[in-house]
Amino acid sequence: MTRVSDTREAATSSSSSSSSRQEGPGGLWDSVKKATFVIGSGILFLAAFGNSLTWHLQRFWGASGDFWQDLWTKLYVKFEGHDAALFYFGTMLFPPLAFWVTNGLLLLVDITGKPAFITRYRIQVDKNNPVDPAKLRNALKTVIFNQVVISGSMVVAAYYLMSMIGNPCGPELPTFHRALMELAFFSLTEEIMFYYSHRLFHHPSLYKHFHKQHHEWTAPIGVVSIYAHPLEHMISNMLPVAMGPVLLGSHVTTTTLWYCLALVSTTISHCGYHLPLLPSPEFHDFHHLRFNQCFGVFGVLDRLHGTDTKFRGTKQYERHTLLTSLTPLNESIPDTPKKGQ
Ligand SMILES: [Zn+2]
Ligand SMILES: [Zn+2]
Repeated sequence: MTRVSDTREAATSSSSSSSSRQEGPGGLWDSVKKATFVIGSGILFLAAFGNSLTWHLQRFWGASGDFWQDLWTKLYVKFEGHDAALFYFGTMLFPPLAFWVTNGLLLLVDITGKPAFITRYRIQVDKNNPVDPAKLRNALKTVIFNQVVISGSMVVAAYYLMSMIGNPCGPELPTFHRALMELAFFSLTEEIMFYYSHRLFHHPSLYKHFHKQHHEWTAPIGVVSIYAHPLEHMISNMLPVAMGPVLLGSHVTTTTLWYCLALVSTTISHCGYHLPLLPSPEFHDFHHLRFNQCFGVFGVLDRLHGTDTKFRGTKQYERHTLLTSLTPLNESIPDTPKKGQ
């Protein structure tokens, strides 16, 4: 997710060069440098992680040849003739697992307010310390409903649409490069569809009926990422993520990986902690704080449409970077005292 997002950040920066040229620090050049650094490290991490994981699995499990293809072939043979079941199994097991493992850990911190070495990275320092249990219970009910009922049915629909265009449970895995290209395309589709549908839900006539629910959390936590009115979850959360694989008729493995990345990424955007070496959640956290800024996922369209202009004048924007040290950003870039503003 990181690497794709930053590709887009770079694209934004270059397309808005005229407005950014005067900005100095925090402007165009700075964005390009930051984006290049994160894209570079993202690609290196992915390649190194992929290679070493394959190496370890081959060594310990004694697999030969193409490890991932062999693994897929075994699964494919087990499910032979039951492609729909295989698709449902993949997309409804791994992405929710990734979501709940990540959110399980975050919830431990949110509920207990401990350990301090994590809570010191909290973005809105005085909020959710600890989280209100009744508010959390209420959110969890909606989250589970959205995941099981709404996402569950949309995955079935996605499978039938994808089967018309491609062969989502085909015997051959896509190549690594094909998968990377597809992930870049999915991210682009998500940015466009999420940005415009999200802005639409901010229209006063729609906001009060649908999107207000998601914004009950002015200081979000991870699990709140899919706390939304079911219609909003369908149109603004699921559709932008599901559309890319449908358009390309992608393989179930790429689709499952993408759903996992999308869920973990939105969890990080909402988690409320700006932790070292993780993508910065400042952008969407600011959206929850101020409502009328930062509508997109990666910020590309916000830059183009000028819906991040207030954000770019804030401390949160200065902190919107990959944290590479252990010092929390609200300590290294503290808020300006009220009087001086
Ligand atoms: Zn949100
Ligand atoms: Zn919103």
